[in-house]
Amino acid sequence: MNLTIIGTGYVGLVTGTCFAEMGNKVTCVDIDEKKIENLKKGIIPIYEPGLEAMVQRNVDNKTLFFNTQLKDCLADCDMAFIAVGTPMGEDGSADLKYVLNVASEIGKHMSQPLIIVDKSTVPVGTADKVKDVIQDELNKRNANIDFHVVSNPEFLKEGDAIGDFMKPDRVVVGTEDKATAEKMRQLYAPFFRSSMDRMLVMDVRSAEMTKYVANAMLATKISFMNEVANICELVGADVNKVRIGIGSDSRIGYSFIYPGSGYGGSCFPKDVKALKKTAQQHGYQAQLLNAVEDVNDRQKLVIADKVIEHFGKDLSGKTFAVWGLSFKPGTDDMREAPSIYIINKLTELGAKIQAYDPKAVHEAKEFYLKDNKNIEYTDSRYEALENADALLLLTEWKEFRSPDFMAIKNNLKNPLIFDGRNQYDGERMESIGIRYYQIGKK
Ligand code: NAD
Repeated sequence: MNLTIIGTGYVGLVTGTCFAEMGNKVTCVDIDEKKIENLKKGIIPIYEPGLEAMVQRNVDNKTLFFNTQLKDCLADCDMAFIAVGTPMGEDGSADLKYVLNVASEIGKHMSQPLIIVDKSTVPVGTADKVKDVIQDELNKRNANIDFHVVSNPEFLKEGDAIGDFMKPDRVVVGTEDKATAEKMRQLYAPFFRSSMDRMLVMDVRSAEMTKYVANAMLATKISFMNEVANICELVGADVNKVRIGIGSDSRIGYSFIYPGSGYGGSCFPKDVKALKKTAQQHGYQAQLLNAVEDVNDRQKLVIADKVIEHFGKDLSGKTFAVWGLSFKPGTDDMREAPSIYIINKLTELGAKIQAYDPKAVHEAKEFYLKDNKNIEYTDSRYEALENADALLLLTEWKEFRSPDFMAIKNNLKNPLIFDGRNQYDGERMESIGIRYYQIGKK
């Protein structure tokens, strides 16, 4: 098929590249000229394992192209995917201006029947809005062109985006049109060689809702476990043992019940807020979602609170090594990362930070911590430890899982670790002589 992917961020670039890998002819469009210029030279704007090689292979095979002009890409296109951002608006709802701008551009320039696929995460009712905007543009130029708007939310995880896209747990397709559903089935068939059962066709509103509910459910699991962790500390229980104790119940399961420093990223915070807002717009107060957010806001600072409890409120003269800045391992994405909140809190109290992250330092320097003058970035994890008063582990990158603990002990001024991701064994730390603070165990 000939596909146009509009928006070349985490979702658009992965989607376009994976469809190209299956033999489709794909053009990725973005209004960011620099991004497109770089992509044409083989420079990938994000860190995502495996993506760079796959982009290059498909560019070489002439299955993947880049463009800044949507109007040039619609003439022989079978499907146009909308994959632009839907950031949090001022009132907490999803800001649809990018999506609706794209809809208007499509309406202005489409010249033949087209399937428009909404891949961005959008509130219930957005497909109808997209349809109306396109129809208005067609009416303005007296054009009578057949089109369908489909909801096809994306469930990939940053850090494992290619694996998720190539082997999805399910593909959700929201359409009431049988022929469109069949086209979507053909497009996704190569991703389900053994069975198509995992392609779930449903009405558009249910598809739109499914994405928010999936993210809200995952955020709820995280906040629930963090709440439990905080209670465990108070009553002298060990959340790591409680986690295994409950996960072994097949009704509960082990996934997504790790306590930590709270969720971040570009999706959970904004999607929980947007679902709350949608409920509110329909006269319903989503109390559980309020609590999920409140717990998460507090949890982001639990490690900073432990540092303050240990060292006191005046941290001037103290230096802390930070391992990990991205909101989770496997990505350079720092949107809403707990590290931002923790570092800002500690430096406000006078501390200096020596930070190391395998991929996110550029993001920190350029955007998320650019105004914070009390951070130095190091090229290696051990360099960050030199003369620091303690180590704070904030993102569970694999290279932090089994470090040289004697090097940690010898490089730090004090043998002291604050672990926001519960990566180490407390008893082992004690036997090595490292004082170890973690989440959910005193
Ligand atoms: P992103 O911010 O990384 O990328 C969005 C891109 O759209 C940017 O490059 C921007 O320049 C471009 N853009 C904006 N307006 C445009 C226009 N008129 N024409 C062409 N390009 C335009 O966003 P993202 O993280 O890829 O997320 C995109 C959507 O997918 C969001 O709705 C998000 O919630 C959803 N989503 C994200 C993830 C994730 O892990 N990042 C996972 C699933 C779903």
